[in-house]
Formats: sequence, structure tokens, C-alpha cells
Amino acid sequence: MIHGLPMAVPSEELPPQVRIHEVGARDGLQNEKAVVPTQVKAEFIHRLADAGLTTVEATSFVRPDWVPQLADAEELFPLLGDLGPEVALPVLVPNARGLDRATALGARRIAVFASATESFAKANLNRTVDESLAMFAPVVERARADKIHVRGYLSMCFGDPWEGPVPIHQVVRVAKALMDLGCDELSLGDTIGVATPGHVQTLLSELNEEGVPTNALGVHFHDTYGQALANTFAALQHGVTTVDASAGGLGGCPYAKSATGNLATEDLVWMLDGLGIETGVDLGRLTATSVWLAERLGRPSPSRTVRALSHKE
Ligand code: MG
Repeated sequence: MIHGLPMAVPSEELPPQVRIHEVGARDGLQNEKAVVPTQVKAEFIHRLADAGLTTVEATSFVRPDWVPQLADAEELFPLLGDLGPEVALPVLVPNARGLDRATALGARRIAVFASATESFAKANLNRTVDESLAMFAPVVERARADKIHVRGYLSMCFGDPWEGPVPIHQVVRVAKALMDLGCDELSLGDTIGVATPGHVQTLLSELNEEGVPTNALGVHFHDTYGQALANTFAALQHGVTTVDASAGGLGGCPYAKSATGNLATEDLVWMLDGLGIETGVDLGRLTATSVWLAERLGRPSPSRTVRALSHKE
């Protein structure tokens, strides 16, 4: 028999509340083969908001020919205007042109995306790490002048497919540089899913020691080696309260073939519900949304929780 919710057994050592930064509509769909119609994306985002997610990354204002899956940002964003201020809709912005496009549509939260390694900076942005930081500097400055919230994504914080393990001091250097540019928060990405819990806690401690506070840090884990929830738990123990996840486990990473995907939001919510940690998310509604989208993508969700909850005898 499948149960709809875990038994909640709270722990006093963990944060009482976690904000889930839902990335399915952007990071997820960007890395799916199928191109989803704009109306389906709009309905997906509305359903995520209805399920209780309050931060739903919506799309990306990179060059449309770079990411054809998200080339409809101009059409999509206005369809989300009825969601109201309680649902934050961050969008990815690579440069000044992207910022212009996003702000013209009224975006109030943006994200820039840097890499902790030279190889991925080259593959993803065709720039060195420092060149990409220089590209983001005026974007972040202008956004902040307009009181737009800025998230900095930092990819390859634990391992890189070309370079192997990434030295912690190298990650800390780029993280600090992003904070110095004026980012409000950082999302530490385990882009190929190789992190383990002790590594996570050591990186978080080193960042704290170098002046980056825990409340400015979110974590973005991939489940390639089955470590995403263990790593999330380690981050919670450290005091992190912002966790990225993708509904139904959508997406992966096109530059790291082994990356089988983002931590599924349902798997995360199951664990957080069991720990008595408040997220505001209705697991049943969220699962129904992922099942609905999987039907449109033509493949089942890789999330264990979605499979368990939607299993029919
Ligand atoms: Mg991801």
C-alpha cells in the first residue's frame, strides 16, 4: 500500500522552514529534448504555483537560438502576469541585452550563471571565468539600481566533467566574486551530481569563513549518483534554507552527458514533510502536475516519489 504522506517526525536541529526554488520550467525544460508549447508551459507554472511553490523560475532570456526550448520567453512571461506578488518568477539573464528584454516585461528577479571551472565557463558561455564575471558586473549593477533581486548560479561547485574534482578554494573565489558584484543570493550547483555530504558541509563552512553567510546560500543538487537528498540533508544541518529542485526531476545538463537530472521536487518535499519542515507545498497537487506534464513530454517522471504516489495497481 502506498501512503500519500510520510509520518512527520521533526528534529530541533533543523530549520523549521525551507524555501524551495522550483527550477522545472527553466532548468528542467531547457534540458528536455521535447520543445513544449508556450500554453503548456504557462499552465505548468500556474499549476506549480497552485501546488504552493512561491519561487518558480520561469524562463531564460538568453539568445533564442542558443536555447530553442526557451525561445518563447517574450510570449510566455506575459501569460504569468495574473500570478500576483506572492509568487516570485525569476528569469535567467546572461547579459545587458537579456536584462533589457526581461525588465521590458516587468521581471523583478533575475539570475546570472557563472561557473567555478574554466572548462564549463568556456563550454557554457565561451568565456573565461573572469571574463564572464566582467560580463555580469554591469548587469548586476543595473539590476540592483532598479531594486531587482539577483541570484547568482555557480555551476560545477564539486566536480567538473573535464577537470574532475574542483578545489574548494577555487569555488570560494568565484562565489565571493559573485557576492562582491552584488548578488543577493548564490545557488551552489552540483552540476554533474558527484557531491557527497561531507564535501557539501566543508564547502559551506569555507564559504562562511570567507564571509559568505549561510542565509545567502542555496543548494542545487543533481541526483546522478543518488546523493541529492543526502547532500540536501547535510546542507539543512548546516542551516541552509533555500533548496533548488525540479518538479518531477525534469532536466539534466546538456554539457555533462552523465548528469541524469535535477533533484525532483517531490522527492525533496517527501523528505521535508517527514522532517516536519514547512514548505507550503501540497505534495499531491505537485505530483499530479508532474504526471500531467510527463504525459505531454511522452515519458514518465524519473522521480521515485512521483512514481510511488502515482502507481496504480
Ligand atoms: Mg540543474
